[in-house]
Amino acid sequence: MTTIGVLALQGDFREHLRAIDDLGQSSVPVRRARELTGLDGLIIPGGESTAIDKLARSFDIAQPIKDAIADGLPVYGSCAGLIMLADHIVDPAHDLKGNPQQTFGGIDMSVRRNAFGRQVDSFEEDIDFKGLSEPLKAVFIRAPWVERVGENVEILASVPVPALDATRIVAVRSRNLLATSFHPEVSGERRVHELFIKIIRGEA
Ligand code: GLN
Repeated sequence: MTTIGVLALQGDFREHLRAIDDLGQSSVPVRRARELTGLDGLIIPGGESTAIDKLARSFDIAQPIKDAIADGLPVYGSCAGLIMLADHIVDPAHDLKGNPQQTFGGIDMSVRRNAFGRQVDSFEEDIDFKGLSEPLKAVFIRAPWVERVGENVEILASVPVPALDATRIVAVRSRNLLATSFHPEVSGERRVHELFIKIIRGEA
């Protein structure tokens, strides 16, 4: 049995908890640093990265998560979770004092928030995902994209952006860190969570 924590401060953590349960593993909501103890992996859900950042710092769990990532804890982030795992945000939000939002970091990449447009521009698309034989149904909700990846970052999926006449990266892996711009957890799609479990077990 693999025990996976889901950061449960804000966002769609319930859907991730259900995905882990569906796959027959043990899921644990995480709000306090002590709840990180004994986890095999951690998921940062979709939601609002500025809120997750603020809450994580006020719950004193931001630094423990950074330490856990540095110690090699496998982490998967979807959407806002992808932003939280990025070393750099191209267009960070600022608080009233002018301080930019912060991330946990870990993946050498630059991300752009709300890159595909506003809420009304949320969309669903069947996308090819490295290692999967069948396309994956991806739900994008005010999604970020990845604008730059470092050498050690593997690109798992990209989507065409017709307005740019180009493609943009929407899924990456860096060692045992996995991140997607989209939300597999909301569509009943379980293959990304399966991949994360394999990464945790050293099988992928
Ligand atoms: N736009 C959100 C952010 O910047 C992410 C949206 C999502 O997680 N669906 O955090």
